[in-house]
Amino acid sequence: MEERGPLKLCFIHFLAAGHMIPLCDIATLFASRGQHVTIITTPSNAQILRKSIPSQPFLRLHSVHFPSEEVGLPDGVENISSVSDLHNLTKVFEATAMLQPPIEHFVEQQPPDCIVADFLFPWVHDLANRLNIPRLVFNGFSLFAICAIHSASPDSLVISTLPHPITMNASPPKELTEFLEKMLETALKSYGFIVNNFTELEGQEYIQYYEKTTGHRAWHLGPASLIRRSAQEKAERGMESVVSMHECVTWLDSKPDNSVVYICFGSLCHFPDHQLYEIACGIQASDHAFIWVVPEKKGKEQEQDEDQDQDEKWLPKGFHQRNAKKGMIIRGWAPQMIILGHPAIGCFVTHCGWNSTLEAVSAGIPMLTWPVHGEQFYNEKLITEVRGIGVEVGAAEWTSIGFGERHKLVSRDSIEKGVRRLMDAGDEAMQIRRRAQEFAQKAREAVREGGSSHNNLTALIDDLILLRDAKL
Ligand code: UDP
Repeated sequence: MEERGPLKLCFIHFLAAGHMIPLCDIATLFASRGQHVTIITTPSNAQILRKSIPSQPFLRLHSVHFPSEEVGLPDGVENISSVSDLHNLTKVFEATAMLQPPIEHFVEQQPPDCIVADFLFPWVHDLANRLNIPRLVFNGFSLFAICAIHSASPDSLVISTLPHPITMNASPPKELTEFLEKMLETALKSYGFIVNNFTELEGQEYIQYYEKTTGHRAWHLGPASLIRRSAQEKAERGMESVVSMHECVTWLDSKPDNSVVYICFGSLCHFPDHQLYEIACGIQASDHAFIWVVPEKKGKEQEQDEDQDQDEKWLPKGFHQRNAKKGMIIRGWAPQMIILGHPAIGCFVTHCGWNSTLEAVSAGIPMLTWPVHGEQFYNEKLITEVRGIGVEVGAAEWTSIGFGERHKLVSRDSIEKGVRRLMDAGDEAMQIRRRAQEFAQKAREAVREGGSSHNNLTALIDDLILLRDAKL
């Protein structure tokens, strides 16, 4: 048969850090194997990507106009991780919906051999059908979470049909379940899922369960973040950090190994002040050093705060002075991969976003789990009950989005207790740390030549080449 050379693949990422970072890392993985990759993005996201994704001769970015002005967003706000209120969130979604025609036009002009798109763009299904090319879907979830979503019943907290039966700590909001089911229905019509996880953490039993219950395929290619090797590539991801990598590393260098608690709730969680206050009291009572990332308020929320002129009312009086040496608060985007990769970090208080989870696993860091929204409550169960690499803080309120009012606070006592469980070097903590480190080793092996994720990518590329060539 005639050699037709590398595949042409088109990647369409959703405009949120937690979707864009991993899908672009996966795109880079394909390019690193000599395939020709185009990432379709928007101008301000392209600026970030250009600075951060590892350079590859076969990878290019194509920007389509983002209609900020048309929907009334400030110039440059092209990502839901750049907003912190419902008003602007709605506008980003509105503008994102308007990207369909220009993206379709671009893809139709230069049809690729395969489209890889976020499941939040279900219209790609028809586009791929029109072009008669395979579509792969990505949603940034673990397959464990997808299996749990499929198997959960609205009337019960117990999901008994999974390979490990689990009891959830909260029920998902009805509108979230309906939305995810709708998106997953279209995803199941695709050629397969691309999963940013590795077989050893997912468990072969979940891959088999998924294939058996859905008849659909999934390729585990992660952890994709491990494609980033240089400090610069690790530091600048998704958004520009408000603190330099150098400052974080110098501060962490002054602390003993495993002595610092890292607290960060991803790119979309904005807790109300009274919850932040509990975190401050809890971490202070635990008496451990900490790095705490608190997202900055933007847009309307910021204006309201300025009106009230109550700067940092979420911190107890004298907190800064008492913790000057012990703690670092980062107001805005932090270089998370750099922080998690530092030996001084002893545990991660996390919202269980899948990327954060996998980054902690890759660094061998035990987790104190505090899920908030999306599929995070499922990830919590994988981390704690199924794989034993973290403990639960006791969060019990599952919201549709990461901001707005919350009714069930996590108390300072639960936070202090959870941190101590992982940091005070008891038997349980040692075992959890040992398991976390074993998974970190397995993660590194998975992406090496001959490892499970490396082999899966080879198999997927071979499949796609066969599909393409069968059309001749
Ligand atoms: N992140 C970061 N700095 C921050 C907050 C988040 O680099 O201050 C990165 C984090 O490393 C992860 C992504 O943003 O790669 C967040 O994705 P995740 O799935 O954990 O949560 P989401 O933001 O989607 O809720």
